[in-house]
Amino acid sequence: MTNLHELSVKALSDGLKNKQFSSVELTQHFLDRIAKHDKAINSFITVTPELAIKQAKQADELLANGNAHALTGIPLAHKDIFNTEGVLTTCGSKMLANFVSPYNATIVQKCLDVGLVTLGKTSMDEFAMGSDNESSYFGAVHNPWDLSRVPGGSSGGSAAAVASGFAPIATGSDTGGSIRQPASFCGLTGIKPTYGRISRFGMIAYASSFDQAGTFGKTAEDCAYLLQVMAGYDNKDSTSYNADVPNWVEKLHANRQADKPLQGVKIGVPTEYFGEGLNETVKTQINQALKQYEALGATLVDVSLTKPEITLATYYLLAPAEASSNLSRYDGVRYGYRCENPSDLTDLYTRSRSEGFGAEVQRRILMGTYALSAGYFDAYYVKAQKVRRLISQDFAKAFESCDVIATPTAPTTAYKIGASLTPSEIYMGDVYTIGVNLAGLPAMSLPVGFDDNHLPVGLQLIGNHWQEDKLLNMADAYQQVTDFHQKMATLA
Ligand code: GLN
Repeated sequence: MTNLHELSVKALSDGLKNKQFSSVELTQHFLDRIAKHDKAINSFITVTPELAIKQAKQADELLANGNAHALTGIPLAHKDIFNTEGVLTTCGSKMLANFVSPYNATIVQKCLDVGLVTLGKTSMDEFAMGSDNESSYFGAVHNPWDLSRVPGGSSGGSAAAVASGFAPIATGSDTGGSIRQPASFCGLTGIKPTYGRISRFGMIAYASSFDQAGTFGKTAEDCAYLLQVMAGYDNKDSTSYNADVPNWVEKLHANRQADKPLQGVKIGVPTEYFGEGLNETVKTQINQALKQYEALGATLVDVSLTKPEITLATYYLLAPAEASSNLSRYDGVRYGYRCENPSDLTDLYTRSRSEGFGAEVQRRILMGTYALSAGYFDAYYVKAQKVRRLISQDFAKAFESCDVIATPTAPTTAYKIGASLTPSEIYMGDVYTIGVNLAGLPAMSLPVGFDDNHLPVGLQLIGNHWQEDKLLNMADAYQQVTDFHQKMATLA
């Protein structure tokens, strides 16, 4: 079969169970596509063909014995932020360019436990700081819809890999939009669940009170399958949520049987997220998607959220503050890059960090250290924490009058690689996604159209805490009556 990379997770799962193809054949299909096309895309930092085939053989045994999970034998790619035992885990940085992890992140282990097959590790902005994947030490990643453009970031490698048909699903992490924005730029569905839903153990830390893992797939259903495996309490992460994980896949399938699945659902539309800076074509596509939701029985209601500029300033104060603390562990002593011939200890620290970290990471460490320093702590850090609380309260108030909130995922579609944007211009691209992380809410992006350059446009759906089911069902209902999620970029 030549189109295995176009199939949904459900179709792949059925195909494996019905012996239409084996996991080894399926895995080889994706490895062949990577070998043929990833030179042009650069989505993988490390491909693990031997490991993948070994895991695929084990999966085929489980399938033959009738011991298989729904995802047994299905290949996936992991963002290179997740520690993977015996495999290079670089976080897109020179600092960790030679780091082979001695252990698995909880989510990597959970994927292995159900028999998912690891194809490799995908590129990302260095330490997940960025929105276009251009800060990866391993070079820019190309968007398969237009190779001269960025795939978004920081999980740009995972997004480009799924959009290129190199993997049916992939993991990502989202501190301020790093799953939703690349999903939007690459025409995919991506979900970041509620903070605490997925263990952060073994996910390299950027800003710990924001960081959350999630998934990429072509559809909400694909995402639900993988999210189901990744979610759940972990005693190795003190912020992980100790509660049963709902069966999202079952709920989604049940929701399809309902006569009018969206009857009575109220969608909050925040005027603040449709103002200046939003590209006109993106706005038109988003409004069309909202009309489609009305046709499905949902009602639109006006809600008000904190102005995106305020949210942006709060995030870009707090996230770097946490980053400056988290990244202090890379000192050239314990692990990671060490400079040549240090003259003394100070020289060792200074040069290891100056040579090991790229410009954007250094900028964040400096900003964060400044905000946390004795003289500025109250004026900046404490104040931003107070604003963070107000932002959460605005979301809580909005959810009093609606079930989900809909906004554009990003103000623009994918821009050109090397567009020479200033850091603050790049940060502006995160205006619609970061509020969610400040409030710890679940949110997703789904493809709802194309702009004049045939670049995908994403709609963001934001849910109240622990209501991933509503988001997945809403996205699925839309995908039952539209076909944007079925469109794939063609690779030469
Ligand atoms: N673009 C945002 C940043 O650079 C978000 C990144 C992320 O979610 N990891 O901080």
